[in-house]
Amino acid sequence: MRLLVVEDDKDLNRQVVTALEQAGYAVDTAFDGEEGHFLGDTEPYDAVILDLGLPKMDGVAVLSAWRRSQRTMPVIILTARDRWSDKVQGFDAGADDYVTKPFHMEEILARVRAVLRRAAGHATSELICGPVRLDTRAGRVTVDGNPVKLTSHEYRLIAYLMHHVGRLVSRAEIVEHLYDQDFDRDSNTIEVFVGRLRRKLGVDVIQTVRGLGYILQPPPETPGR
Ligand code: CA
Repeated sequence: MRLLVVEDDKDLNRQVVTALEQAGYAVDTAFDGEEGHFLGDTEPYDAVILDLGLPKMDGVAVLSAWRRSQRTMPVIILTARDRWSDKVQGFDAGADDYVTKPFHMEEILARVRAVLRRAAGHATSELICGPVRLDTRAGRVTVDGNPVKLTSHEYRLIAYLMHHVGRLVSRAEIVEHLYDQDFDRDSNTIEVFVGRLRRKLGVDVIQTVRGLGYILQPPPETPGR
């Protein structure tokens, strides 16, 4: 899953980005409203963390502009503690959630998980596809209860597929949601990752649709499972 962080406080921006990257997300970053607006308008983010007090273009204006141009990604706004009116304005402009500064990083991570799963239509933080389970809180994948050790890119890939279980996902889409904008992207590597993931999972859940992409779905029922 790929996220955007728009925050002009450099230290805070870095802290949030680091925490999100450690949690397994690809993260792009912007330090003012114009840059943030441009990225959110042109790149397909799974969720955005948006500060309201920004130079060049304030957060509410950024959010309103995205919503006017039908950008529907979940947006979590960052607000100051005593500014209840900011929250109201933010929600009216199209925010999905808010976090009050100062905050604990755990709260940001939990709210990101929540908006991502809601956006994908999941009710709980554990995503299930047949014998495969993804615990989005622990960042852990199990097959029939046994933990599977994955690299960060493999984890991002299975996490994206698990959020979109049962839906055809193209290689181009996967590339756009797995890597940040600075990454040297190559859609051929996706095939390699899928191959490794299949071997590590050991179950037949990732179907290739020739020329189109992949679908994650539960394997056909096997006796004794
Ligand atoms: Ca600010």
